[in-house]
Amino acid sequence: MIPFKRADRLGQLPPYLFAEIDRLKEAVRAKGMDLVDLGVGDPDLPTPMPVVEKLRNAAANSTYHRYPSYSGLPLFRQRVAKFYQDRFGVTIDPDREVLALIGSKEGIGHLPLAVVNPLERVLIPSPGYPVYRSGTLFAGGVPVDLPLLAENGFLPQVSDIERACPAKLMFMNYPNNPTSATADVGFYREMVKLAERHRFWIASDLAYSEITFDGYRAPSFLEAPGARNVGLEFLSLSKTYNMTGWRVGAAVGNADLIAALGAVKSNLDSGTAQFIQEAAVAALDLPESAHLGPLMETYKERRDLVVAALRKMGVEVEVPRSTIYVWAKVPGAGDSVAFSRALLEQAGVVVTPGIGFGAAGEGFFRISLTTPTERLREAVRRMSELPQWTGSA
Ligand SMILES: *Cc1c(COP(=O)(O)O)cnc(C)c1O
Repeated sequence: MIPFKRADRLGQLPPYLFAEIDRLKEAVRAKGMDLVDLGVGDPDLPTPMPVVEKLRNAAANSTYHRYPSYSGLPLFRQRVAKFYQDRFGVTIDPDREVLALIGSKEGIGHLPLAVVNPLERVLIPSPGYPVYRSGTLFAGGVPVDLPLLAENGFLPQVSDIERACPAKLMFMNYPNNPTSATADVGFYREMVKLAERHRFWIASDLAYSEITFDGYRAPSFLEAPGARNVGLEFLSLSKTYNMTGWRVGAAVGNADLIAALGAVKSNLDSGTAQFIQEAAVAALDLPESAHLGPLMETYKERRDLVVAALRKMGVEVEVPRSTIYVWAKVPGAGDSVAFSRALLEQAGVVVTPGIGFGAAGEGFFRISLTTPTERLREAVRRMSELPQWTGSA
């Protein structure tokens, strides 16, 4: 028997906090306690029926049964370009500036392999989506945290970025997971100037662009003049159209970055299933009144009930104007893991401890609004009955 030892690069990943939470969840379930899981950001509502029907028909098209082109169907790339034109007023070349992805996570994870040499630095937001770090580490890059602090509106600071240079690549994500913070075009302009001055590339993660409330419309990084000279953006259909299980997204922007990412992909995967791409086009074609309008009503109702209940408990929390998350302060500025564990064990409510998203997430916890409204109501009711709130008000 050869004793198995994983490759060193897997050992570099931060300890997987979520595995620990999964163990705790099992233990609580085994005791017969009812669990309400507000941990994962995975929409509970189904994919809209016209998208499912499009898939049904497209699946019968035998030309789609063969290997797809790794760059994506022209039909899909053109529809993504049209989305950028209609939604952001940004003109995109569908042939050179769009690449189909097997979900945006795939592109985010692979981008460092296309851009970053071993030991080059990659700037990543903390707290942030964990794949920025793991993709960087797999490419042999060195992740450097950019702390996102409440007093700065959860935006990275120019001084922190300049101190971390020279760097090869910077990830940013607005509307933001997990903080729900938003950025304006002025911020993107500033980032373009910084990237030009210090010669790093920018990857903007736009997973939540359409999940906004109270009349707010999120901009694209590519609206900033010169953005396509220094970076690209990841578009995801997952949260917007309740399509996390379908695995489809796109990279949009700088043609050299797109070609380099495509070169990685052509060696690792063989592209996105073409019937899925055709269904994705149907999703992008859905009128706002048929899908996004009602979906935002649902999330807004959930957001409002969670924020109101937390405030009543004395928890410090902003009303998010975007995303499917509420990012709240742990009462008494306590330890986020201990707090989340107590909620789980005493109330059967799963929330995500902020430190799971990076060191600067400590002191916060994240509630995901992707649970049926009645269950969410039940969760906050149980939370409000716990003793720990009394000390914090
Ligand atoms: C959910 C999420 C993604 C991944 O989306 P997929 O397109 O399903 O891979 C990427 N970035 C952020 C910040 C997310 O929250």
